[in-house]
Amino acid sequence: MSEKFCIFCGEKPKDKNQEHVIPQWLIHMTKREKGDVFSLYPDAKMHLPFMRFTFPACTECNSKYSRMEAMVKPVLERVLSGQSISGADASLLMDWFDKVRIGLWLSNMYYNPKLKQEIGPHFFIDSRVAKTDRMLSVQKLKLSDSENKGIYFNGTQTQLFNYCPSAFTMVINDYYFFNASNNNLVSPRVGFPALSDVKVEDESTGSLSADFITGRHKVANPIIQSFIPNKESITFYQPIYRDYLCIPDFPKDDYVVEHSYDVSNGLGGVFVQKGNAGNTRYLHPTDKVGTKLNSIPMPDISSDVLQFQNAIQSKNIVSSPDTLLGKNINAIILDSMKRQK
Ligand SMILES: [Zn+2]
Repeated sequence: MSEKFCIFCGEKPKDKNQEHVIPQWLIHMTKREKGDVFSLYPDAKMHLPFMRFTFPACTECNSKYSRMEAMVKPVLERVLSGQSISGADASLLMDWFDKVRIGLWLSNMYYNPKLKQEIGPHFFIDSRVAKTDRMLSVQKLKLSDSENKGIYFNGTQTQLFNYCPSAFTMVINDYYFFNASNNNLVSPRVGFPALSDVKVEDESTGSLSADFITGRHKVANPIIQSFIPNKESITFYQPIYRDYLCIPDFPKDDYVVEHSYDVSNGLGGVFVQKGNAGNTRYLHPTDKVGTKLNSIPMPDISSDVLQFQNAIQSKNIVSSPDTLLGKNINAIILDSMKRQK
């Protein structure tokens, strides 16, 4: 990988330009033009205004994602004003959260060459958007006078996130978004086939073998056993099986086909849950769901996301078939957690 890489495709940037990981429209929407990206990081050695939080990208890659940004902005605005969105909107919004989450992860590599060398990122934004099961939980915050509106993210500076960028949170003005993505995160309990018995076949390439358990064809709450949504929240879940399409015995049965938005790309449909009573239901792409929420006091964001990252990691044999470091990852992380204690 070259010193300067395109955060979308990972190659040396062609017709180089700069991508804002936190898009300019969002910086303006939250009046953070002069805000410091690193103001919330306790050990921050650097300070940078949001408008200069940019990374190299190919012109072509950047234009492709500019189109996505233009489409997602009105969806986010609808959520932030409590209006309804469709299943397809929710899927797009989760694409965007994938993009931001992986962008923040890659920004860690840019600012810390030692970390980049250690991790040697094998994937970039383009290879991670809509790649594995994902979840987005939204809450509205009752901010006190001393709590400022703005953009804040959390969970992106932990060791676990560096090795497995699976979960983070973002506050946008008075809304709190909890986003996670991982294999098997939602599939088993929305009735889709689940991955089981994952084995590392080849340590050097990280290639894996796995079996599938046929799906149960029904929703079982809670969808994610280590995550009970807040009772004043709306949560979207989406199973994604893109990685498994090439596997001949992947059980792509009628239930999977009927609950998918794009079967040929392995994109399952969105399931939605209001509050935390067991009422998760499937949304067809054009079905609408209201997003109006009662506001709640600021939760303990940093501990929520850390606990969730731990829960994901402890369940994983590996973080994702195409990605990190085979089964060694658990050992590395457990070791680094012991050292941090
Ligand atoms: Zn590129």
